[in-house]
Amino acid sequence: MKTTLCSICLTNYPLVCVNCQEKIDSGEISELDVRVIRVLINLEKNFSSLKDITFVRAIQANGLIIVLVSRGDSRRLRPALRKIQRLAGGELDTTLRIVEESRNPQHILRDLIRPVRILGVNTIWLPDNSFERKVRISSRDQSRIPLDIRRLEEIVYELSGERIRIAFD
Ligand SMILES: [Zn+2]
Repeated sequence: MKTTLCSICLTNYPLVCVNCQEKIDSGEISELDVRVIRVLINLEKNFSSLKDITFVRAIQANGLIIVLVSRGDSRRLRPALRKIQRLAGGELDTTLRIVEESRNPQHILRDLIRPVRILGVNTIWLPDNSFERKVRISSRDQSRIPLDIRRLEEIVYELSGERIRIAFD
């Protein structure tokens, strides 16, 4: 896995080199990032596809850890993606989701709720000429989504900069 922490520090942590210490001090790498990186690096032995992905950062949100990776990386991890999420989440005692970095709210949501599928997206124009994207999900899938829906909408906004509304059909 490609990370901003050097390979020596990944092995020796909490002993870190001057370079990496600077990154930690400046907030470029958080404590959470280091914890998550170490768990994922450990899984590389069993899931070699992890070696090809780029770790961007980890975010903690209401009992969920979101691992942001580069574009195309979740495809690289498939078909082991769900297994990796389950094992890494178990290791960190939380629900973990691997999400590709994107400005597209639909893509963020897709990664968060996988394997649940998005049925479609409607754009609703509001009187003030702004718009809202309504993302439709089958009501049969509601119980398979691991997170409160409002919270999910907030995470999507945080990561993509765009608001969506989730609706169950
Ligand atoms: Zn280092």
